[in-house]
Amino acid sequence: MPPVGGNFPTPGPLQGYRRSVKPALVPGAFVRTYVGEVGRTWVLIFGMPAHRVRLDLTDRVLCDHADGRRDILELAELASERLQRPVGAAEVDERIGRLVSLRGMVAGDQLTMVEPQINNLVSRPLDAAAAALLSVVTSGARTGCHMRGGCCRLYDRIGLTPEDAANVREAFAEDELTPGGLSLETALRADGFGGHDELAVAVVDGACVLLDAEEKCTVHARLGIDKKPAGCRQYPLRDVAVGDQLHVGLAVECRCILDFAETGDPLDTSELLTRRRFIGEVEEVARTVGVSSRVRWPRADYLAWRERALAALPGEPDLVVWALREAAVAAGAPGGPPELVLRSMSPVIADLARYFRNQARDISEVYSANDLELELFGWAAEAMAILDDRTHPASSPDVILSPLPGERFYVEQLVFSHNLLRSKTLTSALGGLAIRLAAARVGAGMRLDPRLHQLSAMEVLFRAHGAGYLVDTDAHEIERALGLPEPQQETT
Ligand code: SF4
Repeated sequence: MPPVGGNFPTPGPLQGYRRSVKPALVPGAFVRTYVGEVGRTWVLIFGMPAHRVRLDLTDRVLCDHADGRRDILELAELASERLQRPVGAAEVDERIGRLVSLRGMVAGDQLTMVEPQINNLVSRPLDAAAAALLSVVTSGARTGCHMRGGCCRLYDRIGLTPEDAANVREAFAEDELTPGGLSLETALRADGFGGHDELAVAVVDGACVLLDAEEKCTVHARLGIDKKPAGCRQYPLRDVAVGDQLHVGLAVECRCILDFAETGDPLDTSELLTRRRFIGEVEEVARTVGVSSRVRWPRADYLAWRERALAALPGEPDLVVWALREAAVAAGAPGGPPELVLRSMSPVIADLARYFRNQARDISEVYSANDLELELFGWAAEAMAILDDRTHPASSPDVILSPLPGERFYVEQLVFSHNLLRSKTLTSALGGLAIRLAAARVGAGMRLDPRLHQLSAMEVLFRAHGAGYLVDTDAHEIERALGLPEPQQETT
């Protein structure tokens, strides 16, 4: 093997990407180790909605080191060292240029990602003494796991803190392979997410590589729940503070949460408080809450609305109708007959149908055919396309179908856990909720992998996979559908 470095041909003038640029991954971008039909590859995921690009080894090495501090020549030198082959600056230039131009991947000074501005929940510092004073209030829901819910297969990223990574290493003997067939060295790696010291876990066909053949987490099975990665251990609890209370509910993103809603165990919140003390902060409801594009309510008014909603939900015959009615209340709009209002939201529904269709296509290009995410997006694309057809003005069939079992529990958890505040406004949250319930009802008549449930599938798509962000982007269409007049243009 020749010495790495000076023996390589001197690169000629760079034709493509600018010589002086110091490439960097866009904020939030990360590289996922993916084992699938074509063997082990890496997938770069970035942007909102997410784009996925399959990387070969050289691309991956470049992405790993594109931290905004190295120019093309330095990256070429580093890649040569890592790959033990000559990598010239022209090759690096071409590869970076391709990533930039093919998929809108940006480098250095070309940031284009627009993040939604959501400020209904804010972070509050929390020292240990303050954490001890928080009184925990749960929704009374129960929870459990039958290991058939698919939640270890539904997320693009499974992050580990350094402590989590140490626990994973403790769970395996030296040289032992993970259930997914990778060594720990390969399975755990820094993925560039946020630029901190977290690692991420590799997946096989989208499933966490630590998931065994019986769908059990190896770390949990061998070392107990306390040593499971923190994010997984806390899942599916969601906690938000209001004054000296910590409201704890469930994120209904996995079918187990619906299946165990009545028969499971009461929520165990002790771990949550310990974690809050360790992290030193908690999310809390902001002093004012955006209810429409024009109005913010003081926190007390929002809390009064939430209390009233929680009291009314058990008696509501149809939660799509309820969500549309409450959206009109929040917007200060007249609303109207629910079928008509939902039909008027057709531009949002059409955008969602397009979004799911594009995501399903994007995923099918890089993930395996039996990846559960592909099933998730494929099903959603079909359900939303049918809803899109039904809301078309020339279409006659009913738009609002019969309720699904579990809807009430799902909506109660959303309201109790302040999850609606993760949208830009209460109006867009409730409008988006009406749409996703209507689409879940449409999707109930379609084939869906038994590891998924129509309601939890919609929730994971809207919260973890960006569809909620799209609804926020279309918030003005929801307000228009509710009858809120367009804001007057100021004249000078
Ligand atoms: S670490 Fe365990 S619980 Fe977490 S995703 Fe992997 S298998 Fe599931």
